[in-house]
Parts: sequence; C-alpha cells; structure tokens
Amino acid sequence: MGAPTTPAATGTPPRPVPGVPAANRALTRPRRRLVAAVAALLALAAVGAGSLLDLRTPAPRPADAPAGAFSATRAYEDVQVIAARSHVAGSPANEQVRAHLEAQLRGLGLETEVQDTVAQEAGQLSGAAGGATLARVRNVVARLPGTDSTGRVFLVAHYDSVQTGPGGNDDAAGTSTILEVARALTTGPRPRNDIVFVLTDAEEACLCGASAFAASHPLAADGGVVLNLEARGSTGPVIMFETSRNNAKLVDIFGRAAPHPVGTSFAVEIYRALPNDTDFTAFLDRKFVGLNSAYIDGGAIYHTPLDTPAAMDRGSLQQHGDNALGLAREFGRTDLTDLRSGHDATYFPVPGGLVRYPGWLTLPLALLAVAAVGALGWLTRRSGRASTGRLVAGFALALVPIVAAPVAAQLLWLAITTIRPGYAELLDPYRPIWYRLAVLALATAVVLTWYALLRRRVSPAALAVGGLAWLALLGVLLAVAVPGGAYLTTLPALAGALGGLVALRTRQTGPWPVVAVTAAAAVGVVILLPTVVLLFPALGMAMGGVAALVAVLLGLAALPVVDLLHPQAGGQRGLLALRARRLGVLPAAAAAVTAVVLAGVGLSVDRFDAAHPAPTHLMYALDAGTGQARWLSHEGDPQPWTDGYVDGVTTVDDFPGLGDAELRGGPAPAADLPAPKVEVLSDTRSGNERLVRVRVLPQRPVRLLTLHVNGPTAVTSATVNGRQFDVRMAPTQKPWGFGVVFHAPPAEGVEIALTMYPSLADGPVALRAMDASDGLDALPGFRPRPPAVGVVGSHSSEMLAVARTYPL
Ligand SMILES: [Zn+2]
Repeated sequence: MGAPTTPAATGTPPRPVPGVPAANRALTRPRRRLVAAVAALLALAAVGAGSLLDLRTPAPRPADAPAGAFSATRAYEDVQVIAARSHVAGSPANEQVRAHLEAQLRGLGLETEVQDTVAQEAGQLSGAAGGATLARVRNVVARLPGTDSTGRVFLVAHYDSVQTGPGGNDDAAGTSTILEVARALTTGPRPRNDIVFVLTDAEEACLCGASAFAASHPLAADGGVVLNLEARGSTGPVIMFETSRNNAKLVDIFGRAAPHPVGTSFAVEIYRALPNDTDFTAFLDRKFVGLNSAYIDGGAIYHTPLDTPAAMDRGSLQQHGDNALGLAREFGRTDLTDLRSGHDATYFPVPGGLVRYPGWLTLPLALLAVAAVGALGWLTRRSGRASTGRLVAGFALALVPIVAAPVAAQLLWLAITTIRPGYAELLDPYRPIWYRLAVLALATAVVLTWYALLRRRVSPAALAVGGLAWLALLGVLLAVAVPGGAYLTTLPALAGALGGLVALRTRQTGPWPVVAVTAAAAVGVVILLPTVVLLFPALGMAMGGVAALVAVLLGLAALPVVDLLHPQAGGQRGLLALRARRLGVLPAAAAAVTAVVLAGVGLSVDRFDAAHPAPTHLMYALDAGTGQARWLSHEGDPQPWTDGYVDGVTTVDDFPGLGDAELRGGPAPAADLPAPKVEVLSDTRSGNERLVRVRVLPQRPVRLLTLHVNGPTAVTSATVNGRQFDVRMAPTQKPWGFGVVFHAPPAEGVEIALTMYPSLADGPVALRAMDASDGLDALPGFRPRPPAVGVVGSHSSEMLAVARTYPL
C-alpha cells in the first residue's frame, strides 16, 4: 500500500515488528487487532451473559412437586384466594383473608392464634407528624415447635393490601409463600428450633401489625431471626436487600442455604437512603436479627388495581419460596444463640453463588487498589507509554464521562416524560426495557465518543490509567461513606490495575496483554453488569442516571478492551490512518443512534391503554360543618383527566388528617355524608391541667379516623383506647397541632384522653375529627375514568374524607 504520508495523522512512528516486512505492517496489524478485539468482546459478552442468566428466576414447580419442596403452583392457589379483591386492614374482605389463613395453618396441625390488639406505628413514617399513629390489628400467628430450640425463626409477611388494589404481589406473594413453606416444613422431620409463621395486619397503614407482634407478642419476647418476604412489583429476581446490623454470619448462611442467593451489600445502603419501610423495620427496632427479601421489577403495578394474581410472575414466587424454605430449614437447625458477628459483610452475586468477605477488609482493599493503580501509572510512564502530563490529563478527562453520562440519561428521561407526562406518576413504565436499553446505549455512546476524541491526543494508556484511578478513588470514598458499596469500584480497579501490570510486563507481540486486560475487564463485567441491571427497577427510570453512572464505570474498567476497537496508536500512516480514525468514531455514532432509536421504540411500544392506564390521583374532602367539599390531587402537574377536577394549588390545613400542607384542589358538590361524632365523656381540671376524654365515633364504614387539637393548645399526654403516649407537642401557628391517626377503627369508635396545659388551653379548645373511606364512584359529580386512565398506587388515592370541627 503506497499511501502518501500525512504527518498530522501519524502520531508517534510505529515500532518495527520483527519478521513483518514494513509494507505489510499496516495490513497485518489491524487484522490481528480486529481478531483480538472480537475475541475479547466475545469473552466479555459471554461473561456478561453468564452473570445475567444467573439473575433469572427459576421455573415454577408444578402442583405435583414432592411434598418437601416448594411449589409455586400450589402457592399460587392461595394467592388467588388472598388477592381476590382489595383487602385493606379492618375491611370485611380482610376478615375473609384472615379466616382463610387461619384455616390453612390450622389444617397443617400448627398451633395457630390471632393476636388482636391496638398497636402504634413502627419506624418513622409520616402518618402523624407531632402525633400518634395507631391501628387495630389482627395478626395470624402459628408455631411449629422445635425439638430442642435454641431460639426462634420468624417467617413474616403482611396479609393486608392497599385500598387501591388487591395486593396480588404485595404481599400475597409473601403470605402464600409462608403458607407453602409451612406446609413443606410440616411434611418433614421437626426442626431443632421453633419456627413461627407471622402473617401481619396493617402493614400498608403503619407497619402496626409487625410492631404489635415485635413489641408485645409472647413468642417475640426473646427476639430471634426474622425472614421478611415482600414484593414491590410483579417480576424479577428476589433480592435480599436489607439485613440487621453486623450481618456477616446471617449473610454467610444466606449464601449457603438460599438456592438462588441474589443480594448485595450495596442494596442495603441504597435501601437505607430510600423513603421505604416494610414490616422488617418494626423488628429491627427491637432485638431481632434477620434478612428482608423482595422482588421489585414490574413496579408500574405497585399498589395499583393492576396488582392482581394474574400479574404475578410465578418464577419470582418460586424463587421466594425456594429461598425461604432453604433458609427456614438452615436457620431451623443452626444454633441461634449467637448469630451476631462483630461486623457487616460485603457481598454480591456472581454466577453460581454469593461472594462475601468481611466488611473490615473494605478500606484496606480500597487503599490497595489505589496503590495498584498508582504502580500502574508509574510503570506506564517508565515504559514510555504516557508522560506525566498525559497521565494527569487522562485522570482529569476521565471525569467527563462520569459526569456526562448520568446527566445525559436524566435529560433523556426529561425529554421522554415531556412527550409522555403520564410517566410522572409511575414508579417505572409498564414496559421499561426499551428505555433501560436506551440509557445503556447512551452511556456507551458517551464513553465511546469521549474515547474516540481523546485517545490519540492523550494516549490510550493515560486514559485507561485515569479511568482506573477514578474507580480506585471512588472505592476509598465509598469505603468511608457507604462501605457496602465499595466493592463496586474497588474490585474492578484492582483487577484493572493488575491486568494492566501484567500486560505491561509480558511480550507485546503475543496474546497475553490482550488476555490480561480482558480478564481484568471481565471482573468489572461480573460485578457491575448485574448492578446496572438491578439498579433500573430499584430506582425507576426517573433515576436512570445512577444506572448510567455505573455503566460508565464499567466502560472505564474495560477501556483497554475498548481500545482494541480502534487502530493501534501510531499503527498506521496516511490515508489509512485517517480512514481508521473515521472508523474509530463509528461505534460511538452507532451507540448514539441506537439510544435515540430505542427511546423512540419505547415511546411507540409503551403507550397507555386499558391494560396499561396512565395513573391519576384524586381524592375528595368534605367539611360536614360548613358543607363545603373539594376534589384534591397529589399530582404536581395534573393529567388531563385530573384537570377536570382540580385547578390551582390549595392549602389543606383544615384537613390535618391528610398529612399534606398543600395539594391541587378544585370545588366539588357536597355529598350527604356524616362526619365522625365526638362525644365528650369527661372534661376536668386537675391542678394546672385540663383533662378531656372523648369518644370519636365514625358514622359510616371507614378505614381511618383522625382527631386533631387546635394549634394554640399544648398537649402533654394522650391515651388512646387505654394506651398511653408520651407527647411533647408545643403550641403551633398552624390551625391544627397534635393529632391521633387511627387505622382500621372498631365500629364502636375510639376513646381518646388528652392532657393539656391550662395556661395555653385557657383559650377556646377545639377538636377536628376526620374519617376516610375509599372509592369515589358514588360521589355526586364524579365521572368514571375512561379505560386508558388508571389509579395511582398510593395510600391516599380514591380516598373520601369527611371532617368536622368540635369546639370544647
Ligand atoms: Zn405495599
């Protein structure tokens, strides 16, 4: 090839390759490079496919599976009974579900009882800021006595659903799993330890059932191991996403005894940062240890009318059951007297199992990775592959894709939600796969474009070392701030540095440099690819930037392999080099086009229709005293359907029971509905205090009852149905201050005694009573939703609240 020489395009002159005539170099090398690139990419693709296949759910086992095994088909029969319709705590439907659960457990010959009590909210939910949230709960509790118990194992799931949906997954999945696990356990030899099946009530309202069990049930008095089973979606792998502190021994048992152990110490850290709570929180508040598991993909149906049994992926149910049964058996035979270890473990899934190592290794490993990358940088400079200046430039410029890809992903989602505003009210789109792939293509485009633009100016070696340096430094930051997540960047950085060192020390003409950098990149793939895939459902598309960030980190860990897609630096001269450089931007351009195409496919495939409606939020608030009624909505930017009811933003401080300061609101016709009655049972002054005892009595079937005291009145203590609360509620400027929220109130009402400060309560004292039922269909002025308009999965959708002020 007698191509003319263009000095600007050459870079450094090529080193002579022994045995290859100069005229052939340009041809031979790109071809060899292409073979190496294809081989390396195929190897990484195989490793990635292996990692992802490992996240697949098992096939559901049939009804005739062996008696000692978990069968999703058998469990699903219970799902259909439990989730036949919405069964919110306190409703007649929930009573029927409870009767079914009792009958099933008794039928297995287990000691079964119903814990019927009033309990206070666990954890820090929003229910009643500056007040008390309670519920009447009825937990179904059954015990399989151990032969020589060293402690108790608790399998926990909640059997109540939200008011807006039947809870086909949330949490008929956990409840039916426990029934089937109980059945399997009763067929075999008795376990050594007591196993207690706890089907809790009022989880959706306030975690009150779990709170009641953990705080006051005799079987809970000595603590034990809790396995909580949940679902926040309809499909996907079951992820063990939360543990008690000092979890090393528990995680070790999880890794050994769960047949499909998907879990990462990073998920624990993410979960702590999210405003979610499950029954597990109520146990963590006490002296329990344990593991919390859920499947979370298919989040579009979460808490909506679409969360039906039919929506359930029975592979996810099978995984729940396989793991719960394996863990129940293992904890059933383990000595439970000392399950706490002195530390948390770092753990993550790899094909075939769960890697785990002690948390105290986190920081030393992170520092080792920094040292290894430092050594690689030093050797790179010494071998003449990059000057100090270029290494510094590589490090500085590697920050560009780390920042640009998440920003680009968020902008892409902003564009998509601008085109389809209905996504704003969804946890995740109904068919998120296209958008997830679009985000990945976008992250790929960012990395490839950045690399194609810089590799000749800065040098491939300097960019690779710079990328690894960021991974190593992030590892140190994470080790200090979020130790459970440090492995994500520490291990790929360490592997990348070692791979780079090997590549530098081996003969450059043989295959070993490519093998070394490919093996190092494979470590990044095994660790980061499942993380990307699990982050999408965990955070939803609205936070797709986080997945994009992790994808970029994966790209940086694999830069030496990416480099094989480009012509060797200095490997060609002249026109050939120019053509090769143009070819080098091809992958980047292809990825960018792919991102746009995928986003377009998502928009055209994932349209709203009757089976995939655009969710809307609406509720109704009536002041029975003034006869004024309003439609209210949580939607920030109301959908067209909601727009027919609400206009501007309105304050709702006259409805303190709703827990919101402002909502979208619009006038509504007043319905002929009674407010709850407040009967004063006694009103006495004792010394400096005024003690008021009232009964709040709903006048219709309701799910919720609230009572608030006017703002200027200081309340120092409250007793609800005989239960005393310490209260420190100073007077406030707001119209209403201290309040009691009572879920699933008994028909005979709730008795509340309040102690107030006289100096402040000398003024007029007023009480505001509110109750709430569910369903707007019967209200005047309500027009049913068209087929493609649905209900937002929330605890206040479709709520019908009636309130009234009672001066004392
Ligand atoms: Zn729920």
